Amino acid sequence: MTGERILIVEDERAVARGLEYGLQADGYQVVWARTGAEALQLARAENPALITLDIRLPDTSGYDVCRALRAEGFRQPVLMLTARDEEVDKVLGLELGADDYVVKPYSLREVTARIRALMRRAYGDLSANGQNGPLRFGDLEIDPARLSVRKGGEAIELTPTEFRLLHYLAARADLPVTRSGLIESIWGYDSDIGGERTVDVHIRHLRTKIEDDPANPQHILTVRGVGYRFQG
Ligand code: CA
Repeated sequence: MTGERILIVEDERAVARGLEYGLQADGYQVVWARTGAEALQLARAENPALITLDIRLPDTSGYDVCRALRAEGFRQPVLMLTARDEEVDKVLGLELGADDYVVKPYSLREVTARIRALMRRAYGDLSANGQNGPLRFGDLEIDPARLSVRKGGEAIELTPTEFRLLHYLAARADLPVTRSGLIESIWGYDSDIGGERTVDVHIRHLRTKIEDDPANPQHILTVRGVGYRFQG
């Protein structure tokens, strides 16, 4: 995955330089946008493989940029920077559609680990996993070849992260899966750089989409003190 272009959207030069340095060391090419308008322009012109997006920008917010990109059909991963922890619901929600977030102050190691993981996830091995047939549980069908989920015959819109999470759990139906195991398998980084809250938020979103009563889930169960378990 070397040589891929990453667009850094960040108005503070020193912060952008730090990220640029870390990403170039990982073999990525870096494009830098200082404003939301520049970000949209460069996203269209340079077709970056991934975007890191600061929330506070001089002309607009990172939220608006993310929303605009998704509305234009930009499907590549977006990593939000500077979200406060309490903004996580909004950032990872379908409305914005960011894939992951990092709270400032973050370490370069943390950000580059997340970026590597997002890149692997977006361009890595999922499509090569052709032997995986659809999983069926009652009226729920999870098809990894098509990245689609249907319930009672109706397509359910999931973000790529939600899909991977659901598929991972469903492929291990009835077995408890730890949060740190999910982070390592789905996000591809060590749980000691954070992410348990991210898992919980995605699980909550998944429940609202696939459960009849999200407050009383029948498929994605919480295993207290451990993590989650998919019930077929
Ligand atoms: Ca900023």
